[in-house]
Amino acid sequence: MSGLLIAGGRVVDPESGHDGIADVAVADGKIVAIGSGLGSADRVIDARGLIVAPGFIDLHAHGQSIPADRMQAFDGVTTTLDLEAGVLPVASWYRRQAEQGRILNYGAATNWAFARIGAMIGINEESSLEAFGRAMRDPRWMDNISSPSEQQNILERIAAGLDEGGIGIGILNAYAPGAGVQELTALCQLAAERGVPTFTHIAYMANTDPKSAAEAYIRLIGYAGATGAHMHICHFNSSSKTDVERCARLIKQAQAQGLPITVEAYPYGTGSTVIAAAFFSDPEFERRNDTRYEQIQLVTSGRRIQDREDLLSAQSEDPSQLVLWHVLDTENNARHRDMLDLSVLYPGGAIASDAMPWSMPDGSTYTGDAWPLPDEATSHPRSSGTFTRFLRHWVRERQAVSLQEGIAKCTLIPAEILAASTPAMRDKGRLKAGADADVVVFDLDTLTDRAEFSAMNRPAEGVRHLIVSGAPVIANGIMDVAARPGQPVRRPFGAAA
Ligand SMILES: [Zn+2]
Repeated sequence: MSGLLIAGGRVVDPESGHDGIADVAVADGKIVAIGSGLGSADRVIDARGLIVAPGFIDLHAHGQSIPADRMQAFDGVTTTLDLEAGVLPVASWYRRQAEQGRILNYGAATNWAFARIGAMIGINEESSLEAFGRAMRDPRWMDNISSPSEQQNILERIAAGLDEGGIGIGILNAYAPGAGVQELTALCQLAAERGVPTFTHIAYMANTDPKSAAEAYIRLIGYAGATGAHMHICHFNSSSKTDVERCARLIKQAQAQGLPITVEAYPYGTGSTVIAAAFFSDPEFERRNDTRYEQIQLVTSGRRIQDREDLLSAQSEDPSQLVLWHVLDTENNARHRDMLDLSVLYPGGAIASDAMPWSMPDGSTYTGDAWPLPDEATSHPRSSGTFTRFLRHWVRERQAVSLQEGIAKCTLIPAEILAASTPAMRDKGRLKAGADADVVVFDLDTLTDRAEFSAMNRPAEGVRHLIVSGAPVIANGIMDVAARPGQPVRRPFGAAA
């Protein structure tokens, strides 16, 4: 007898290629068997007519809180990781998550930007969006080359984070574009020595040289080749923007030569970040990015930025306030749709949301327990609709990839990106006896994202059941608001590294 039986669903497993009707038996947080006639169970989920798949694994999620987890749960996510930014210090962050309880499995990389903030301007606050914004008032950590002693200090902070179980190194290079190649090389050498991936928001994103996205990718390819570090490219779509064809060619060629480079993307043409991000400050921002200031929109007020002067004053007023950057007009522009396809359908690439925290009108981050979320909470539609949007539009409506392939991009592919360095991921992203019981049960016919830029906090629809570490979080489309089954994902730590 097992604790839980998911009965009669269409079981799709991207590792084995299995796609057929079967039961899935779960006990003690693990899948114990898949097949038929598996005996009785304490609880039976009727999955007839529904898809049963591994829970989605999000490599790029900045929310990391109860409300963010709940919105992602309805998007089919069972494991949510902040790898692009990461956290610092690492141990205390994991301790805090365990104390407060989490709904989804969680984890984070070691945060290079905060190592720089600590080493170069002496601010040693724990990483957070607010602390990030405050640190941007002193641009030295963003603009300057580190001195030899500062570089040493940065590397020591990163090494400590890895010792504490951080899942690789998050490199927000675009936020500190002044960092030199020598420092980045040393950082990647450390990653290679420890056998951990790096997760990079590339240094530059302009369409034109110098400091173009192409230049930044050439550097990233160089770090992979010259150090052997696994370079994971975050949000390939929003980093490459309208120059994505050139950038995809570069990355494909580098991968074809065996370099350890991986890719993720999210299925929206609009990005989001803090307003003080260094790339907005470029005096030639409009020309070099093929964009206009009006394409930048403040998240909480909805107001559009008018010009450079307006941007600079908004930056100094509240550096950490969140903005949307409407880059690709996928509604009205067929070429822009093709550009997004290149990122989202990139062969072997993962789908990852870049989910943002939920903000209240006063700009504070909402971390409370209300469900549904407060009406006035804002973020970005990707924080609640990434995976369902991808499966609805690219898999069901357009059949641009098969269901099996589409599910792999949400499960097995992200798990494999981490598997070499984080053994815990080898038990995720697949359905088989012995794997973690992280399971999503959804109705492919009705599955859809519902969040829009005018209504961001609408949960997605179609996820009927969600099992996290063996425990139901969503049952018959309804969230169990008391459930906190989320477990930490981290690298082995405490032993001599
Ligand atoms: Zn980013």
